[in-house]
Amino acid sequence: MGRVLIIGAGGVGKVVAHKCAQRPEVFEDICLASRTVAKCDAIAAELDRPIRTERVDADRTEEVVALIKSYRPDLVLHVALPYQDLTIMDACLETGVDYLDTANYEPRDEAKFSYTWQWDYHERFKAAGIMALLGSGFDPGVTNVFCAHAAKEHFDQIETIDIIDCNAGDHGLPFATNFNPEINIREVTAMGRHYEGGQWCETEPLSVHKTFDFPDGIGPREIYLMFHEEMESMARHLPGVKRMRFWMTFSQQYLTHLHVLENVGMTRIDPVMYEGREVIPLQFLKAVLPDPGSLGERTTGRTCIGCLIHGIKDGQPKTYYVYNICNHQDCYKEVGSQGVSYTTGVPAAIGAMLMLRGDWRGEGVYNMEQFDPAPFMALLPEMGLPWVETFPDGLTV
Ligand code: NDP
Repeated sequence: MGRVLIIGAGGVGKVVAHKCAQRPEVFEDICLASRTVAKCDAIAAELDRPIRTERVDADRTEEVVALIKSYRPDLVLHVALPYQDLTIMDACLETGVDYLDTANYEPRDEAKFSYTWQWDYHERFKAAGIMALLGSGFDPGVTNVFCAHAAKEHFDQIETIDIIDCNAGDHGLPFATNFNPEINIREVTAMGRHYEGGQWCETEPLSVHKTFDFPDGIGPREIYLMFHEEMESMARHLPGVKRMRFWMTFSQQYLTHLHVLENVGMTRIDPVMYEGREVIPLQFLKAVLPDPGSLGERTTGRTCIGCLIHGIKDGQPKTYYVYNICNHQDCYKEVGSQGVSYTTGVPAAIGAMLMLRGDWRGEGVYNMEQFDPAPFMALLPEMGLPWVETFPDGLTV
């Protein structure tokens, strides 16, 4: 059905490569390209079918253009870092190829999370007759689809959305992040922000927290209010929602380490001079922290990510909770990765399938909740991420 160029051979790229390789009827030909080609080759060697591998510096649009011209993909599936979103979108525009990613663009020198830069490409993508699908991971990604599914199937009007992300896994190390450490720490040290009454309300980083009782035996965990990008797009695309919040679990051990690192300046993203050269402390920290891609073998436990939604159906108040539970060790057995890479890589492959099959089609730049959720919801369990829906009257955060 199509040729896909995957850019990025990290934790998520590995899962995407495995999942695309499992579906040859959709992904007829695969090229995996990244900054370090040896990482692409190592992933290629794990697969049951041959794929092409290439080196590319995706910060350089001209290198991505040259690779697209030589490989001629139908779709570029970008799972490198958010810093490359715009250079890769530029390359797609220049070559007339569709684009998909899992995280919104961030400028390197400011931890600012917003879709505005990518939404600005809408008219140009439309004029070129190509499509960009933004945020096809789990959160953002599946969480947007869960909300679109709730709006379509269960509510006349959604009033509040709480997106709740729990990683109840344990890697046994004192401190490690479960996806790219630089991106992860920029995200969790940013100001908290939620949407209420048509406005954004800011709170100090990780200052608001509550206890939430997770299903399926995971039990009570402390959840922390954070900003997350899917709220920005859903505030625009799901009219009438009064409040939207995003919560994530952190262990005390993780928070203690994070506070120390912040207090000593190791999470700074501005350059400091060290022995005559500029060093960005957070980038140096990334170099000494465990590679999230290496955590798979040692991570046990489960993730539980879902949306708790309140609203009105047939004039009556209604509560709806939809979630996925993913077992880290099952992911490792299947593709050699931990659950956080898996829960991101599988939806990226599903988004790509829907684009290549033509089920999700548009000209311009789109977020996940703008399409019919049905084919995505149907593919989730088939591709390894089953979901559960409940109607727990009175359940709140
Ligand atoms: P990793 O750091 O493990 O992998 C990133 C990969 O991108 C590495 O292989 C790296 O190459 C490559 N890369 C970095 N810069 C360039 C460049 N300039 N050109 C080409 N390749 C480059 O990150 P993850 O796999 O954990 O995360 C990947 C993406 O997924 C991130 O954008 C992250 O924000 C997103 N994500 C989204 C989630 C969601 O639910 N929506 C959840 C988790 C992650 P090298 O190996 O040489 O460094």
